[in-house]
Amino acid sequence: MSITLLARKQVQALTPYQSARRIGGHGHIWLNANEAADSGEYQLDCSRLNRYPECQPPHVVNAYAAYAGVSAEQLLVTRGGDEGIELLIRTFCEPGQDNIVICSPTYGMYAISAETNGVGIIDVPLNNQRQPDFDGIIAKLNNTKIVFLCSPNNPTGDLVDSTGLRRLLDAAKGRALVVVDEAYIEFCPEFTQADLLDDYPQLVLIRTLSKAFGLAGLRCGFTIANPEVIGLLLKVIPPYPIPEPVAQIAAQALSDTGLATMRARVADINQLKVTLTEQLRQHPQVQEVFAPNGNYVLVRFSQGAALFARMAKAGIILRDFASRPGLADCIRITIGTQTEMDAVLDVLQQEQ
Ligand SMILES: *Cc1c(COP(=O)(O)O)cnc(C)c1O
Repeated sequence: MSITLLARKQVQALTPYQSARRIGGHGHIWLNANEAADSGEYQLDCSRLNRYPECQPPHVVNAYAAYAGVSAEQLLVTRGGDEGIELLIRTFCEPGQDNIVICSPTYGMYAISAETNGVGIIDVPLNNQRQPDFDGIIAKLNNTKIVFLCSPNNPTGDLVDSTGLRRLLDAAKGRALVVVDEAYIEFCPEFTQADLLDDYPQLVLIRTLSKAFGLAGLRCGFTIANPEVIGLLLKVIPPYPIPEPVAQIAAQALSDTGLATMRARVADINQLKVTLTEQLRQHPQVQEVFAPNGNYVLVRFSQGAALFARMAKAGIILRDFASRPGLADCIRITIGTQTEMDAVLDVLQQEQ
């Protein structure tokens, strides 16, 4: 008898998340996972590694709360933003019964986490302006525990409209949580929805150190919500989610120096992004450059597959979204270094 048949039916049917790392490729320029091009320098004190760490290291919680302008009771530290997404689903959704709403095309982990936990997925696709279809979502609320929005949206880059979001939050009162995933908010901090938290107890934000802070390898993220929501998540989170070295490095990243480094990195990336998008928009093979609000830009080329292959041949690994509905010929380019952006433009200029 095969071991596989012993696994839960749900798990047997799963296709694992196709992360940029898993898809891989042979390249020397990695622009497929929205990682930062540099990580920074950190010190480690190993004298306490014999002890179990705090479940919620207070110096990390307090530093992030101060940075985000919220209170410590509104915050949960997790193993990346992804663990926050998974915890929300495991805490609020009854397997085999409840649903989440996603608005495709969007970040893949909402659906993966739901599927792994036997929770249903209702897709209410983005409308023609690539905004959430707020009326469509509201119509599904009876049947839904969590609505996942992403702002800036990965991969399209669009920001969720605040007026529509408020309307959804009003409709969701007492019925469902509304999660706004702000993994990329440092690249456009003026658009955070954090100021709505006080008015809407069912609003949840997801944040991470993986993108603007340059620490994807650290696995550290944050869930921001009403203290009642945080209290429920704390019942489900494992006892020692944040390893001691992670807490130490996260605290350094959130110090005044760390925040200054992050803001300088963001300024550099945003500048490179402006230059890249201007040059892309003038290129005859480029049909559309989507809203560039994160550290990436989604581009529709006239012949996406051929261009993706040419880039790969030149050692430049990008992320292909062509198979997603509405994203034919679309490729997402992470903003890397100046040299990496020049390499991308070089390949684009070459005759085929
Ligand atoms: C990268 C990302 C995350 C979380 O990443 P972690 O590395 O798990 O913190 C969450 N949401 C979106 C949209 C992302 O792109």
